Amino acid sequence: MTPEWDLVVIGGGPAGMTAAQYGARANLRTVVIEEMAAGGAVLLISDMENYPGFPEPVNGYEFSEAMRRQTENFGAEFKSATATSITKDGNIFTVETSDGPVTSWTVALSTGARHKHLGAPGEEEFSGRGVSYCATCDGPFFKNKKILVVGGGDSACDEASYLANLTDKLVMIHRRDRFRAQKVLADRVLKNPNIDVRLSHILESIEGDNKVNKVVMKKTDTGETYEEEFDAVFIFIGAIPQTALVPELEKDEAGYVVTNQGMETSEEGLFVIGDVRATPFRQVVVACGEGAVAAHMAAAHIDDVKGEVYAGIK
Ligand code: NAP
Repeated sequence: MTPEWDLVVIGGGPAGMTAAQYGARANLRTVVIEEMAAGGAVLLISDMENYPGFPEPVNGYEFSEAMRRQTENFGAEFKSATATSITKDGNIFTVETSDGPVTSWTVALSTGARHKHLGAPGEEEFSGRGVSYCATCDGPFFKNKKILVVGGGDSACDEASYLANLTDKLVMIHRRDRFRAQKVLADRVLKNPNIDVRLSHILESIEGDNKVNKVVMKKTDTGETYEEEFDAVFIFIGAIPQTALVPELEKDEAGYVVTNQGMETSEEGLFVIGDVRATPFRQVVVACGEGAVAAHMAAAHIDDVKGEVYAGIK
């Protein structure tokens, strides 16, 4: 049996769309399955300033739209559906989706990662009513208001810098005595007069009536707890990789899928790319590179399966 597709990409973020571009350009019949708008986490970036070739910061939505059009121009298709399982029979994969099954010689999984929650009392209760995980989505609602940012990584620093353009009453707390973020991003926060950085702090609870109005924080060095009024709490404490479709694949200690340098997994023909993959540096440019590698390796795998491999390509 010949499957319907050569390459099925699950997840339409930068990794997935690049895999689709390279796949379609190499004449693979390629489809991207995406349950939301194409772009993934990039859609939430207001100003992306570190993608090569863009001397001025580019808006994440515009970047994603351009990438989607480019992907379609190469001949890849998009299917709006949720993938629910991946199975393999012989050399052929079946991806079950909310819109019916699709079959393929290869699959590239690029399902990304979702925001981690703190689990603090009040966090779920006030989600959407002052508690947010996306500065560009919700920041403008809190112009000139008092905002608390929680986190110490690249996301927290990036997002705090963005929010500090909207208000000069921004407090940022991190549980350790220094930031985890890349120095350039951390320094930008530390030098920003609109950001009051409080290290060695944790958020104990979020309180309010119908919306957030105060939080309880704890100083981890002294154990002292105190209350402070806030209008909003933005939480950026990392992400949970979306691996539900590949329970059998090897993961690292944080739950990200381990691949070899060809993005290959222990299941031949199944590639894993982007933020769901174990990688030392989660960046859009890295995700795109991974997508390109996966498409290249997928083409080689298909040749292999069909007995047409060109010696030395793999
Ligand atoms: P991250 O690097 O995992 O950092 C998460 C931060 O949240 C850490 O500082 C961590 O503290 C803290 N944290 C985790 N759980 C916590 C909890 N329960 N309570 C309090 N604090 C908690 O995640 P990220 O910042 O979202 O970044 C994810 C990936 O995207 C990274 O690879 C990053 O490089 C990349 N990224 C890059 C850029 C950029 O280059 N502009 C922007 C955004 C993201 P500890 O330090 O104590 O563990």
